[in-house]
Amino acid sequence: MEVSDAVENQQHQSALPQRIQEAEPAGPPHEALYLVLTYLPSLFEILSMSEVCRSLRDALNTDELAWWNIIIESPLNLILSEDFLTRITSKAKGGVRTLALLNCGKITDDGLQQVLVKNSLITKLYIPWCTGLTPDGVVKAVKTLTCLKSLSINGIYNVKKEHLEMLHSCLCPNPFQQELPPILYHEFRNENLQAFSNRKIDRAIDVEVCPKCDDVRMVFDCPRETCRRTRERSVGQCRGCQICISRCEECGRCVQSDELEDAVCADVLCSDCWLQLPKCSFCNRPYCKSHTNLMRNSSSSQIICDDCDNACEIRTCYD
Ligand SMILES: [Zn+2]
Ligand SMILES: [Zn+2]
Ligand SMILES: [Zn+2]
Ligand SMILES: [Zn+2]
Ligand SMILES: [Zn+2]
Repeated sequence: MEVSDAVENQQHQSALPQRIQEAEPAGPPHEALYLVLTYLPSLFEILSMSEVCRSLRDALNTDELAWWNIIIESPLNLILSEDFLTRITSKAKGGVRTLALLNCGKITDDGLQQVLVKNSLITKLYIPWCTGLTPDGVVKAVKTLTCLKSLSINGIYNVKKEHLEMLHSCLCPNPFQQELPPILYHEFRNENLQAFSNRKIDRAIDVEVCPKCDDVRMVFDCPRETCRRTRERSVGQCRGCQICISRCEECGRCVQSDELEDAVCADVLCSDCWLQLPKCSFCNRPYCKSHTNLMRNSSSSQIICDDCDNACEIRTCYD
């Protein structure tokens, strides 16, 4: 790898204009750069920064504070091994405060346990969609933490009421618990892990027992004005998990089956949001905003959805 780097470097050098080749060699990084090291948002940025030059890499290797909040999401989540996680967390010398692993499927109960035993001061543990973990493994691992305040386990399979009760008993109660804002489906769907872990006010555990189906899942409130009013009278008829209550992808409001609008993607849209979205010129259906990039221009400069585009292609092939 070093050899190929050197060859590449040589080629690069010869391609540079004479004026730049004769310039002074670059000095050490500006001092201000060292100050930002503890504020880098996720592991991806920390690792990228350590690749910039030897001085920054050395600074990061010796700065425990830079490793206190470890956030791993796309693209590193898919390749994250337990061995790598152990090495990364060990740089904080037992001082990790936030460990956030989004959809890190290779992490098992034993791997998590090993990391938590060495970092018992973690206050925020976010492990949503880490499907290699089991509820029993999470309970066991969480028991080793002494001051855990917030836990996210959405997407871990087979979490039962008993696990939830056990987990609640392992958490440190927050004596100044403020009233929490409702969880709205569309906001939750669009929130990334960094925003999640930067939240000032946080729930103890993200999942709860759904009042409709009695399963442990994410439970959403409804931003629809009439539903909000009933919630204030603590009726909350459309409060429930995603399986029990269909919600609009764009605005998070509950959508009854008779007002469900037709979209190209499988997402649910309410009539108000449906009206506002750009629609395919051929089938008059929109995509939700997160899938709008699938809409393209047809040969006649009209916008066309993937379905109609494929149908057109097939027709042209067989005509
Ligand atoms: Zn439910
Ligand atoms: Zn809507
Ligand atoms: Zn509602
Ligand atoms: Zn279409
Ligand atoms: Zn969609």
